[in-house]
Amino acid sequence: MQLASLATVDSTKAEMSMSSGNAAQRPRFVGGEGYAPLTEASVSAFLATHRTAAEHLGGTPADWSVREVGDGNLNLVYIVKGPAQGLVVKQALPYVRLVGESWPLPLDRAYFEWHALKLQAGAAPRQVPQLHGFDERRAALIMELLEPHVILRKGLIAGTRYPKLAMDTARFAAATLFTTSDFGSPADLKKERLALFSQNGALCKITEDLVFTDPYRVAELNRWTSPQLDQVAAEFRADAPLKVAVQELKWAFMSRSEALLHGDLHTGSIMVTPDDTRIIDPEFAFFGPIGFDPGAFMANLLLAYFAQPGQATAGDDRQAYRAWILDTLEAFWNGFEDAFLDRWRNDAGGDAFVPALFSDVAGAAEIEAFRRRCLSAVLVDAAGFAGAKMARRILGLAHVEDLESIADPDRRAACERKALCMARDLMVSRARIGSAATIRSWAESIAADEAAGR
Ligand code: ADP
Ligand code: MG
Repeated sequence: MQLASLATVDSTKAEMSMSSGNAAQRPRFVGGEGYAPLTEASVSAFLATHRTAAEHLGGTPADWSVREVGDGNLNLVYIVKGPAQGLVVKQALPYVRLVGESWPLPLDRAYFEWHALKLQAGAAPRQVPQLHGFDERRAALIMELLEPHVILRKGLIAGTRYPKLAMDTARFAAATLFTTSDFGSPADLKKERLALFSQNGALCKITEDLVFTDPYRVAELNRWTSPQLDQVAAEFRADAPLKVAVQELKWAFMSRSEALLHGDLHTGSIMVTPDDTRIIDPEFAFFGPIGFDPGAFMANLLLAYFAQPGQATAGDDRQAYRAWILDTLEAFWNGFEDAFLDRWRNDAGGDAFVPALFSDVAGAAEIEAFRRRCLSAVLVDAAGFAGAKMARRILGLAHVEDLESIADPDRRAACERKALCMARDLMVSRARIGSAATIRSWAESIAADEAAGR
């Protein structure tokens, strides 16, 4: 059933202004007067006031079950099930959930997540959860319940193969990044969107600090497997070429507004079944360098890869599965490059590289060569961002379950050391990467190198 929009009048106006070409509006009312975090007890009463959501669930509020499942770092997530169907309510909290009330965070990030989901749904239909509504006052999204999907990270820890993952994720990234770039959208629309998402600065600041800066300095919230990694953490803080490389990547992240990024495309933001791949949680959305999202995905595949020895059991050494992870990484990048180039060749609706300028034989050859150089540069960026994303998950505040689930600290540290070795190479030597096969061969040689894990 198609639900009518639950958005308030003000958010509908903002949405209309996006599509009509007027300047995008600052989300003034998100989490306004009357905002309070929802509880398992209050979610049903909230949904009962939204007629279409109530109809979707079926029955009466007394028939609905509510369960809080938020395992992320920032928000409340409720799964609500009625006699007819289920729904998810995701509500922003005014602080970072992982840290607590001492770290405030603006509620209007829910508004950016809502807008990003709508844009992504347009560019990559059926690859994001269907949106049922947005309640500005409560900073709450109401969306499709993805079931029986699991979070990809958990599937990778369990050793499950997902045959469609690489191509589905490649298609999603290519579609969303291309269509929001200057290759895919006209200049006025691009700038209108840029104006909107540039207001999501508090979330960018989290990335700027936690990904690109804190792991390279003494910071209160940093943590790592200690004492095993004390030495390598100190080496990272003293490594001048590495610090230049990561700050160069930070500068690119801050200054190159190339396309609307998901902004947090890790394996905890992808929900899968063997047949279906959905991308969730774009609250970090903003305009940044195209390589950032592919880099985030590849980083998290590499973290899973280096964590595999820690997941090995007597009956399964995980060697074959590790190879599948690298197959997935290669297929993802190659699929992304093909899909992005394909759109650029055939669907260039943007104002950069006007097709009519290249309609003769010489022009066609020259622009094709440029397109390929451009994608090679995106891969170099992606590799660097991947390195930064890997290192922060081992030396910074927020870690990943792939590694954290390895109970023996010596075993975990051995995996983490190799991942850090890879992360450093990806950042410092990224200019040498000419294809995803290079990333694969670096990962395999570090994995085989006993010295790298010691
Ligand atoms: P956060 O922004 O706090 O990281 P997420 O959007 O990642 O929140 O959601 C947290 C968790 O809630 C996810 O890991 C997933 O388990 C669950 N979840 C989120 N959205 C959905 C959905 N549409 N369907 C089913 N489960 C979901
Ligand atoms: Mg999340």
